[in-house]
Amino acid sequence: MIIKGKDLSVSIKEALKVRVDVLSKQYGRTPNLVVILVGDDPGSVSYVTGKAKAATEVGIRNTTLRREATISEADLLDTIAELNNDDDVDGILVQLPLPKHIDENKIIAAISPEKDVDAFHPINVAKLWLKQPCMLPCTPKGIIKLLHFAGVDIAGKEAVVIGRSNIVGQPVAKLLLDANATVTVAHSRTKHLSSITRRADILVVAVGRERFVTADMIKPGAVVIDVGVNRDTRNGKLCGDVDFEEAQYIAAAITPVPGGVGPMTITCLMENTVEAYINRMSKQ
Ligand code: NAP
Repeated sequence: MIIKGKDLSVSIKEALKVRVDVLSKQYGRTPNLVVILVGDDPGSVSYVTGKAKAATEVGIRNTTLRREATISEADLLDTIAELNNDDDVDGILVQLPLPKHIDENKIIAAISPEKDVDAFHPINVAKLWLKQPCMLPCTPKGIIKLLHFAGVDIAGKEAVVIGRSNIVGQPVAKLLLDANATVTVAHSRTKHLSSITRRADILVVAVGRERFVTADMIKPGAVVIDVGVNRDTRNGKLCGDVDFEEAQYIAAAITPVPGGVGPMTITCLMENTVEAYINRMSKQ
C-alpha cells in the first residue's frame, strides 16, 4: 500500500474550508496567517509558496512578509513584536533556516506562543512533552494522521525513528510514545542501525540522505514513513530517505516522496492556524 498523503491532505483541506466558512461567519472575521521569509533561498521560497497556496485554498487570509537576508536580528524581532500585538493576526510563522547572523532560538521564542502555528516555541515544546493541550508541530502531527489513515493501530507496536531533530525526530517519537508505541530513536551515533530498524513495525525516517534506508533494513510487513526531502543525484528529482523502488515490495505500507509527508505538513499548518484562530476568538 502506498500511503498517499496528498489525497488525505486534499480531503482534510476540503473539510477545513467548510469549517473556516462557518467560523468566519460566526466570528465576523476570517483566520489570518503571516509568514516571514528572510532572504531568497529557493527551497524556502518554494515552501512558503506552498503554504500560501494551501492557506488560500482553505479560505485563510495570508500574507508573506519578505525581508532581505541582511535584516538585523533587532529589526526581525520588531516585526514579530508588531505581529504579536496585531489583533487581526492569528498565526505567525518564520520560515527556517534563517541567515547565520540571526539567532533562530531567539526569534522562535519571540513569537507569541498562542500564535506559534509551527509549535516550535519553548512553551509549546514543553507542553507537548508534559502532555498538556497544545498546538502540535506540523510534520509529526501529519505523520500520526498518515498512520491513522493507513489503518495502523499504533498501540503496542515497535516504532523506530531515525533522526532526533527538534522539528521531526524527537516530537514524532513523543507522539508515537503517547499513542502507546514502544519507541526507539536512532541517530548518527547509533550502532548496528540495521538490526534496530529490522525490529520496527513502524519505521519513521528523518535523516536527509537519499536512499539511506535500503530494503534489507526493513522488517517485512512494516509501515514506513519517509520524511526526507532530497535531490536524487541520478536524475535531479525529489526523493526521500528510503530506497522506495525496493522498499515498496518489503513494506506493507510506505509513503512516497513527493506526495507523502510533505503535503500533510502543510495541511497541519492550516489546521494549527485555524486552531490558533479559534482559541483567540473564543477568548474575546
Ligand atoms: P536534521 O536536523 O538534519 O536531522 C537529521 C537527523 O538524522 C539527525 O538527528 C542525525 O543524527 C540523523 N542522522 C544523520 N546521519 C545519520 C546516520 N548515518 N545514521 C543515523 N542517523 C543519522 O534534519 P530534519 O530537520 O529532522 O529533517 C530530516 C529530513 O526530513 C530532511 O531531508 C528534511 O528536508 C526533511 N523534512 C521534511 C519535512 C516534510 O514536511 N516532508 C519536514 C521537515 C523535514 P545526529 O542528531 O546524531 O546528528
